[in-house]
Amino acid sequence: MANPYENAMSQLDKVTKIKNFGDEFIARLREADRDIRISIPVKMDNGSMQIFEGYRVEHNNILGPYKGGIRYHQDTEINEVKALAFWMMMKCAVANIPMGGGKGGITVEPGKLSKGELERLSRGWVRRLADILGPRKDVPAPDVNTTPEIMAWMSDEFEKISGDKTRATFTGKPIEKGGSEGRGPATGLGGFYVFDALRAELGLPQRCKVVIQGFGNVGGNAARIFAENGHTIIAVSESKGAIYDENGLDIVKLESYKKATGSLKDFPGAKNITNEELLELACDLLIPAAFENVITESNADKIKGKAILELANGPLTPEADEILYKKGIPVIPDVLANSGGVSVSYFEWDQNLKNEHWSEKEVFEKLKALMEDAAKKVNEKAKESKTSLRMGAFILALERIKEKM
Ligand code: NAD
Repeated sequence: MANPYENAMSQLDKVTKIKNFGDEFIARLREADRDIRISIPVKMDNGSMQIFEGYRVEHNNILGPYKGGIRYHQDTEINEVKALAFWMMMKCAVANIPMGGGKGGITVEPGKLSKGELERLSRGWVRRLADILGPRKDVPAPDVNTTPEIMAWMSDEFEKISGDKTRATFTGKPIEKGGSEGRGPATGLGGFYVFDALRAELGLPQRCKVVIQGFGNVGGNAARIFAENGHTIIAVSESKGAIYDENGLDIVKLESYKKATGSLKDFPGAKNITNEELLELACDLLIPAAFENVITESNADKIKGKAILELANGPLTPEADEILYKKGIPVIPDVLANSGGVSVSYFEWDQNLKNEHWSEKEVFEKLKALMEDAAKKVNEKAKESKTSLRMGAFILALERIKEKM
């Protein structure tokens, strides 16, 4: 698999060929302020002790405290976390929120742990890193396989160690533990607002046929939100496989079916297909919402989507990006498309620090305003420099970071 950090750096190299930001500035942004590897000993239910490897990368805090999710996955490793931390810096700058870039993770297959083991592991991650965390220093959040419950354990552990009662160190918490209204659907909803702001510009129809890879927090919410807004979801997938119905899937029924059976497979009326086939379906909008590096030089030519909305982080390799650009398939990049999650995380942090609780309506209105503004400015930058939306987003982000420096 391609090294995600090298992919991120090649994006950075590419933007410097479009606009000159000065070598020293770019050199500074190539390196994380610090990347930390930790070992976390966990007492397992059978009495044995297992050691897990964890990470926190603080890429840059020029715009504000380091901010970024924590990923639990068996393939998580330092280069992935470094890339994600770099993209977080870009994303916060694109969304225009006063946060820097960070990311964390643990190499673990969480489905194999009991709830108690998962809680001890999560609290262990916080104990190792408590010194560098804090509302004004570094503010983690959920990512793949981390939930509001995990954020509540982490927030509680941090409060015990530090005595800090603001609850502003972890975002994505359950509402009753200081979470924000609207954090759950924020990434999918933010992606929808961005798409809606650019749809006409990209020449897409009012009612699109949409294909979504991933049916977790981001993909599942995106499916529901796009369907509620009149679009037809013709295929969705999870790690075990995909389903397809050219007449459109009933997302509400699909959610209950998944809850009942634990899988999307054999959903009545739909055809079971593979994740590879899903990516190559003809559609108006393809939304990768699972993992990085799923569209590469080996399948980019076969993509039949008329546009791509990157809700996952880094789903396209730089080679695939180039192929799609040449084919004239617009890509709404991750640093813009999925910035709704960190934006509502920022709202949560802000509410915690002010001891306020905003209504869902207020959160969604603020999110819509941020996303529409970001989409508009990215599009303007792309047009000004006659380049892709990704490069437009990078130009906007780098200008904002450089100005703050
Ligand atoms: P999640 O764990 O809730 O869901 C991941 C989904 O991807 C699941 O449906 C899983 O079955 C599926 N999946 C896993 N491996 C797959 C594979 N090989 N092929 C197809 N599907 C596969 O995670 P999430 O929070 O929805 O995150 C998804 C992506 O969105 C990640 O790239 C994440 O970094 C990004 N993201 C998440 C947020 C957020 O707020 N949660 C914010 C910004 C970006």
